[in-house]
Amino acid sequence: MPRFARVLVDDSAGKAFDYELPEAVAATLQVGSRVRVPVRTRTALATIIELLDHTDAPGVKLIAEVVSAEPVLNALLIDLGRWIADYYCCSIEAAMKSVLPQVIRKAEVGHQMRLFARLAREVDAEELETLRRKAPLQAGVIDFLAQAAAPVAVAELSDKCDATHAVVQALVKKGLLLTEPAKVERDPTQHETFVAAGKLELNEEQLAVFERVCAAIDSSTSHRSPVTSHIPKPLLLHGVTGSGKTEIYLQAIDRVLQRGQTAIMLVPEISLTPQTVERFKSRFALTQHEVAVLHSHLSEGERHDEWHRIRSGRARIVIGARSAIFAPCENVGLIVVDEEHENTYKQEETPRYHGRDIAVLRGHMEGCAVLLGSATPSLESFHNARLGKYELLRLTARIDARKMPHIRIIDLRMESQKKGAILSERLITAMRARLERREQTILFLNRRGFSTSLICQKCGHVCQCPNCSVALTFHRGAARVVCHICGHQAVVPATCPECRDPGIRWSGTGTEKVEDTVAKIFPKAVVKRMDADAMQRRDAFRETLTAFRQGKIDILVGTQMIAKGLHFPNVTLVGIVNADLSLHLPDFRAGERTFQLLTQVAGRAGRGDVEGEVFVQSFTPFSPSIQFARHHDFDGFWEQEIEFRRQWDYPPFSHLVLVLVRSQHQERARFSAETLHRRLAEALPNGVTLGEPAPAPLEKSHGSYRYHLILRTRAIQRLSRHLATVLGKLTFPEDVFVTVDVDAYQLL
Ligand code: ADP
Ligand code: ZN
Repeated sequence: MPRFARVLVDDSAGKAFDYELPEAVAATLQVGSRVRVPVRTRTALATIIELLDHTDAPGVKLIAEVVSAEPVLNALLIDLGRWIADYYCCSIEAAMKSVLPQVIRKAEVGHQMRLFARLAREVDAEELETLRRKAPLQAGVIDFLAQAAAPVAVAELSDKCDATHAVVQALVKKGLLLTEPAKVERDPTQHETFVAAGKLELNEEQLAVFERVCAAIDSSTSHRSPVTSHIPKPLLLHGVTGSGKTEIYLQAIDRVLQRGQTAIMLVPEISLTPQTVERFKSRFALTQHEVAVLHSHLSEGERHDEWHRIRSGRARIVIGARSAIFAPCENVGLIVVDEEHENTYKQEETPRYHGRDIAVLRGHMEGCAVLLGSATPSLESFHNARLGKYELLRLTARIDARKMPHIRIIDLRMESQKKGAILSERLITAMRARLERREQTILFLNRRGFSTSLICQKCGHVCQCPNCSVALTFHRGAARVVCHICGHQAVVPATCPECRDPGIRWSGTGTEKVEDTVAKIFPKAVVKRMDADAMQRRDAFRETLTAFRQGKIDILVGTQMIAKGLHFPNVTLVGIVNADLSLHLPDFRAGERTFQLLTQVAGRAGRGDVEGEVFVQSFTPFSPSIQFARHHDFDGFWEQEIEFRRQWDYPPFSHLVLVLVRSQHQERARFSAETLHRRLAEALPNGVTLGEPAPAPLEKSHGSYRYHLILRTRAIQRLSRHLATVLGKLTFPEDVFVTVDVDAYQLL
């Protein structure tokens, strides 16, 4: 029997400590049990993350108290945490922090208690009459409660029947009313009502896909007995924009519920719009199934309640962003990852896990069906499908035979003669036609602000952020120059800070300038901008989308915030102001990202009865990403891109690990990177290539100098262990920070 436990102490900055198990309770404790442990002079709440036969820790103390032997997490999730630590080369504590969310570990966020009232007994007619004359407010409460099906919150009584606390107290004294405290749940969507909505009848293509999904769901024997159970292959659904993928997710989840199982659906944070959530809630309102929603804008209390609603089994459908993959569901029958190609599934802080990859892994551990869906699958997933590791399913046509939008490319090299023109004549003409027909337009530009750099015409000086190696962006609304990396702000200089010449000029275009230009060309049109600057208020996003849907906005200008997932049937024109922005980044995925972005943005057009039209403005109109997107040719793009990856041995042919070394002192950062490089090279495992240390493309950020080491291998776990060993033995100067990013996406 184990004698020790490794525990994760709440609020301890994620450090794990070893304690001895009291003999009397040792047999009852499990991984996931909650305990109280002595920490210096006090005691603290903690979660057991490992049981040990032996520990090397000095001066091990005894666990002080068992809070709950019943685990707060099932063993599978703890295994998942262990796997993450191993694969992503981070500590088990760091991994566990994601698996067991902060708010659950924190003791003080408990259930919210409120006072509820109900009738103590039946009140006869005569008694009620008397009361009506003498104390009409009290009678009102009695009437109200007699109608109510369940106890009513006292706070609500004051709203509904003007009953103050004194009125309630008087009734309690008369023995007519009982009050008692009870838990209430903070439902983030409680003030919305959902109209139950039925299933749609699937078309032929959808049916064929749905049958395959059902086969996977039905073949999973679930309830983890890995030896005997059949684990279905993950399914990759490649379905063009508007082909009815979401309808398939909904019906597949419904099937899972009928089997008595639970379902998790991941969506990118950005598409967790009220529109999506509403669609889910209305569908499952019909069968009275509860949907839990997890995303980063929930309050602590809401998150706590959603978590417990899932854990208690009340909510059997979970829809959420990346971290919802750790939802404490039991008996999972299906995990859906919508827009599986999205980079936001990758967590850009430790533990740097990828939500889609964890979904596939959890599916494997649960023995359940996994469905990845996208109009532009990632090279990684499509490669797995080609290798036969995933089963490929396809939807090639839009619903109701709607045509794919017609994409036209505009060569900006021909247009740029007209000085300062942001929008080409052809795009402007198309926009004018939409305004006349009362149809809507979306203009997309992946850059905020007004102008993107300030250049001195005389000495060539570019105004840079003092903390980062990027140019400052001019924000006209805020009358400031702003760094988009660290947020540094300054007043707009009137003369060149370098040579004092007044001839400084703005160049480059951001969304603010597009909005401004459009408003000048079409003074009568209603133009609205949707980007991180314009959407700072909590409800701004929802309000703007609602106004747009109601047709109160003619032209919507925005960043990637509007690129994905939105469904507006009256949008018949999409303009991509500059397609080159994402194409020329120093990143081997630049081509893939551009193809995905263009396809997704174009997919916003023509989702209603009128055919859509898309204008793509570019200085490099013949680049493959643009041409393949234009012809809606995913397979063509894939063939050529995978060849490039194969030649250079980039993912998906290898795993790429990025080690970032940073320090406020350039020399120390460089020196540490070189030391680390030398140590790693000393006993490099077979099949690993190690690049020379080099300054990162974004050389300076937040005041720190940054150096990169890039490693590639096919056997990632061996490399992760090698990294962990080397890093464990090295000590760096105090102000040098080293982070390891396994399967890195962010290469700047
Ligand atoms: P995707 O997720 O592939 O972009 P959606 O599932 O959002 O596509 O479907 C696009 C539109 O078509 C939605 O308005 C949806 O309600 C509708 N739709 C989906 N399937 C059907 C169907 N079988 N019959 C009629 N309309 C459908
Ligand atoms: Zn900065």
